[in-house]
Amino acid sequence: EYAKGITDGSRRMADMMTNILKLNRLENQQIYPQVSEFDLGEQLCECLLQYENVWEKANIEIETDIAEDVKVKADAELLGHVWNNLFSNAFKFTPSGGTVTVSLIATDHHAIVKVRDTGCGMTAEVGAHIFEKFYQGDTSHSVQGNGLGLALVKRVIDIMHGEIGVESAVGVGTTFTVKIR
Ligand code: ADP
Repeated sequence: EYAKGITDGSRRMADMMTNILKLNRLENQQIYPQVSEFDLGEQLCECLLQYENVWEKANIEIETDIAEDVKVKADAELLGHVWNNLFSNAFKFTPSGGTVTVSLIATDHHAIVKVRDTGCGMTAEVGAHIFEKFYQGDTSHSVQGNGLGLALVKRVIDIMHGEIGVESAVGVGTTFTVKIR
């Protein structure tokens, strides 16, 4: 039991260090995006599938509505961080029996991804700060994170000249919308 506590603690510390270093490099422009063309729907599905054991264990329903053949020119690794953070938050803040929905549509010039959950939601006050470094609105889940995930997400989306928005209602759920070219 003690060993598990130590391992979990070290893992959280390592995750935090990785996030701090990534964010730092992004902010200091030491990461130059490696742009390539790839299928966004495939990336979303691959990323989502990594959470299969999480949603099965938590008894969370998954719904997807992912358009085919949506190609984007972007840094796949950086964009992968975005989906990972949004998915892991959706699962973290959604109780058993809830639903997480991922959708992708393409308009003439943009790809629009929505990650929706039926979780605890957040107040407008919390929503106004979530993209700030180290901000954690929900302290009951604070051991599972470090408040850096969405700061990193925002930085990546800014670098890509994209947009990210959030709509949320307490007790109803949250939807993050990401728009990229
Ligand atoms: P962390 O998840 O490590 O706390 P993040 O930067 O990923 O940090 O998120 C910041 C805060 O935004 C969270 O602490 C939580 O209050 C809020 N948040 C993010 N995603 C969701 C969500 N899907 N549902 C409810 N609250 C969320």
